[in-house]
Amino acid sequence: MVTVLSEAARSPRHRRIARVRERMRELEVDALLLSHGADLPWLTGYRAMPLERLTMLVLRAEGEPVMVVPALEVPRVAQADDLFTMVPWSDTDDPIALVDAVVGRGSGAGGPLHLAVSDRAWATTVLALQRRWSDARWTEASTVTSPIRAVKDPRELQALRMAAAAADRVASLLQAGKIGLVGRTESEVSGELAALLVAEGHQQVNFAIVGSGPNAASPHHQPDSRVIGTGETVVCDFGGTFALDGDVGYCSDITRTVVTGPPSGQIDECYQVLEAAQQAAVASARSGVTAEQVDRVARDIIDEGGFGHLFVHRTGHGIGIEEHEDPYLVAGNSTPLQPGNAFSVEPGIYRSGAFGLRLEDIVVIGEDGSPEALNTVDHGLVVVEA
Ligand code: ZN
Ligand code: ZN
Ligand code: ZN
Repeated sequence: MVTVLSEAARSPRHRRIARVRERMRELEVDALLLSHGADLPWLTGYRAMPLERLTMLVLRAEGEPVMVVPALEVPRVAQADDLFTMVPWSDTDDPIALVDAVVGRGSGAGGPLHLAVSDRAWATTVLALQRRWSDARWTEASTVTSPIRAVKDPRELQALRMAAAAADRVASLLQAGKIGLVGRTESEVSGELAALLVAEGHQQVNFAIVGSGPNAASPHHQPDSRVIGTGETVVCDFGGTFALDGDVGYCSDITRTVVTGPPSGQIDECYQVLEAAQQAAVASARSGVTAEQVDRVARDIIDEGGFGHLFVHRTGHGIGIEEHEDPYLVAGNSTPLQPGNAFSVEPGIYRSGAFGLRLEDIVVIGEDGSPEALNTVDHGLVVVEA
């Protein structure tokens, strides 16, 4: 199709728009309505503030994309590669009516509209849109965008690589005992990990989980005032957003478990199993293997070790502009992996009331179909006497 070719020739973002439109045609979606969430920055480079005023990119199957945007936000909207026209609205306008007017241009001639709306749009927005088009068919925008977003282009992979390398530098400080643990609270350690993520080049810290002793048995433990003792496992799971020049940020996410003094026999035994499971799962993640098969590889090894009942979550999640996105490594996801996929491999073993262990790398599938772990710091249970 001529329009697709001319769009594709212009810039990487035009190419993305062209691919999204191709998929809209396949799914017979009349318009994609993007508000909050990662689809908008992925397509346009612009991230809307998560406030109540409506920002909405209207992408119809044909014609110029249009962004309905609060007038006061217009100066923040960079329009480097001329992707869309803007319809600014002031506080006395009705932005839903403006979206309606844009969608109405040239669509809906034959039957009810099929509209795909941001997964992360406010309910107030979605409900207002649904009142506007009471007979429309509604789909999550991710149905259109997610399979395309799951295959990263070289620049996205470069950003993920830089993010992972920065997270690795923080993890190596942790393993080298440069971050004091014993006698400090989890919150203090979390704060230091967060500051180091920024010092190593992240624009934003997304989380810095520090779970010590029995708290480590809660996978998403909120760091608190517990003082870290000796001979305890400390699960440190942290990540942030890292942006290449002038681009939207991509996420890092790493977990290393350290132990403050020689580990007990039971902790050591569990960790051997965990590390074997994680490494085997990474090695198994080849193009054509399904997402659930990778989960199975990790789970089988932990099952055989006798700790299957203590591995209480899926093996991993995709990563990109969002911390968690497709593909999810979980039973039931029979999607085959393919070159350009980026995801975490992070099995864990959690003994309630006692300790917890998790090991996480970000892995990408290369052009040759083989897996590459972007995180390369020591995978063992490092003893930190600090
Ligand atoms: Zn998690
Ligand atoms: Zn993590
Ligand atoms: Zn993760």
